[in-house]
Amino acid sequence: MTTAALIVAAGRGTRAGGEKPKQYQMLGGKPLLRHSIDALLGHAAIARVAVVIHPDDSAAYAEAVKGLENHPRLASACLGGAARQDSVRLGLETLAHDPPAEVLIHDAARPFLQHIYIDRLLTMLKQAPGAVLGIPVVDTLKRDDTGYARSGVERQGLWRVQTPQAFRFGDILTAHRQSAGLALTDDAAVAERAGLPVRLVPGAEENFKVTEPEDFARAERQLLLQLADIRTGQGFDVHAFSDEPGRKLTIGGLVIPHDRGLAGHSDADVALHALTDAILGALGDGDIGQHFPPSDARWKNADSAAFLQHAMTLLAARGGMLAHADITIVCEAPKIGPHRDAMRARIAGIAGITIDRISVKATTTEQLGFTGRREGIAAQAVATVRLPG
Ligand code: MG
Repeated sequence: MTTAALIVAAGRGTRAGGEKPKQYQMLGGKPLLRHSIDALLGHAAIARVAVVIHPDDSAAYAEAVKGLENHPRLASACLGGAARQDSVRLGLETLAHDPPAEVLIHDAARPFLQHIYIDRLLTMLKQAPGAVLGIPVVDTLKRDDTGYARSGVERQGLWRVQTPQAFRFGDILTAHRQSAGLALTDDAAVAERAGLPVRLVPGAEENFKVTEPEDFARAERQLLLQLADIRTGQGFDVHAFSDEPGRKLTIGGLVIPHDRGLAGHSDADVALHALTDAILGALGDGDIGQHFPPSDARWKNADSAAFLQHAMTLLAARGGMLAHADITIVCEAPKIGPHRDAMRARIAGIAGITIDRISVKATTTEQLGFTGRREGIAAQAVATVRLPG
């Protein structure tokens, strides 16, 4: 039995405000869509995750999946259609090239998907061809079609439904093909129309859909409450200046004009090495030399951005976020100040977080010690990460 997940991210999300579609707006330092991708990739039962995107969003999507380019279980994005239902059908058709037994269909705008609910859906799917998350209505319901409240709306048996919605793959693909062109509001409706029994499975209020502008503030608050395990890691690194003519000086992911580069097996980016070690330290997951041994020829002259991205992937796999990083570069020359903001932007870009969460500072050692004698450059970093508490 293989299970695939299809994330629908092809909408324009105009109600939520902002300059770009809501699924690409940032929540806790990463795009809204990335939260769903990470949650689904993090579940052991899900063999493949595919995302349906809008044709205009290829660049935003590439940014949102940074670091996952070679992930064995993330399929290439497929392009959606005019309405949500078209997008789901096109996504299912793409999955049909190598059909899974089951599929979970999830909206990109629900970033708080917890594994326990995926488990519940998959368990229910053994008994029924369809299973969807929902919450029984507990509030009293009234109708207002005259300008005045009217009672008498029976709430007994009513549910508000969410995603994921889980189905046996062949069934839902056929149902979508049969319903093409009809305006149905969710995949359960498509299944019901095809005569497939759909079971309702209790979900959680936390799995809400980000729709209105104020929902982002609610989502930020909820995220911080969930990521209550706050940890700090520190990293330190030194590289000597190289005698190699023409060797470039790379610091903080940027090539900085200077008469000498730093010696090292990789590109010797002392700042990214310190930051990578700080994140690994916060995770209690060894050090950079353990993950990327200098004895391994693969890392010869490597771009150290890959090391930082690896640490960020480990952090994401634990469901965590990088709350802040503070990096200090210690050298007499070159001057770091003029490059500070470009460096912050580059590091934030590599890590896939916003620039306000990255600090770069520089100091000299008043001509004392090896940095004072201009023999090399040192860097230290402190990383604060938040993990699910
Ligand atoms: Mg190093």
